[in-house]
Amino acid sequence: MNAETRILEPGEIEPPTAQIRFLFLADQDLFRLRAERLRFLAKGHSLGDYLNFLSLLADAQQEALNHLSAPPLPEPNEQALCREHGMPLLSASSMPLNPLWRKGLTMILQQMEEADLPLAARETITSLTQRDKTGLDEMAGRIMREELADVSPAELPFVAAALQVSFVRMASALGECSFGQLEQGGLCPVCGSRPVASIVHSDGLRYLCCSLCFSQWHLVRVKCSSCESTRGITLYALEGSNGAVTAECCDECNSYLKLLYLEKDSQVEAIADDLASLALDLLLEREGRLRAGPNLLFHPGTA
Ligand SMILES: [Zn+2]
Ligand SMILES: [Zn+2]
Repeated sequence: MNAETRILEPGEIEPPTAQIRFLFLADQDLFRLRAERLRFLAKGHSLGDYLNFLSLLADAQQEALNHLSAPPLPEPNEQALCREHGMPLLSASSMPLNPLWRKGLTMILQQMEEADLPLAARETITSLTQRDKTGLDEMAGRIMREELADVSPAELPFVAAALQVSFVRMASALGECSFGQLEQGGLCPVCGSRPVASIVHSDGLRYLCCSLCFSQWHLVRVKCSSCESTRGITLYALEGSNGAVTAECCDECNSYLKLLYLEKDSQVEAIADDLASLALDLLLEREGRLRAGPNLLFHPGTA
């Protein structure tokens, strides 16, 4: 692993914040693109079977997103209140769970039943279809609060996938203009979740990508998304990589987030490339570094 320390000065690489687009909601074909990327990364990869399974799951997510009906949304006065107080409108940790998510889960499970899956995955699908609403909602609540270790590793990807679909659907129904900036720059302005990774766009600006709704919001490159320190970062990359996927570690709080460069690989995708670079997480974990945000499809006990 290569490590390099550098300190960037604010304003050194970015235009004044007022000129910067603050938020991008997820594209409506994001899961299709993710599935393609996962299939590409799976070729010759030591985790190929796992990445191929996730590509099927992403296909099912796209199908569910395409067919999910419009969800009930917060009232305009509630929306205004959230903007005024810098609170996320679709707060994953405090908003009552929208039953729409279970419709998404049913669609995903139905599609996955038709896929060519190993017996263990089939059994998980069967057991999930037999679960009652309360059990499913409890599991969903744990995932939205990022208590991933308390969720069964086999069930996590299916349930998290359904929640992701419902949050993407709700965010797009509200539209970009409904969301204001939060006081905490490291949390998603749409749902308040932590980022799965950072993406440097081709214009050099850094956006954090939400682990739940995949909105991308701007944060200056000098700032740690976790503690907002600007004191210094250390960049890590796997030896022999093309540099499109690196990890940015904060020297202050010891947390890290993967940093993906679209300029080095225009196909790079937050969830897919994060999961295909688990080797980097293992190395950083050995150095005592902690992830600054989860990948909801990945159970922390599996590494
Ligand atoms: Zn979000
Ligand atoms: Zn930090």
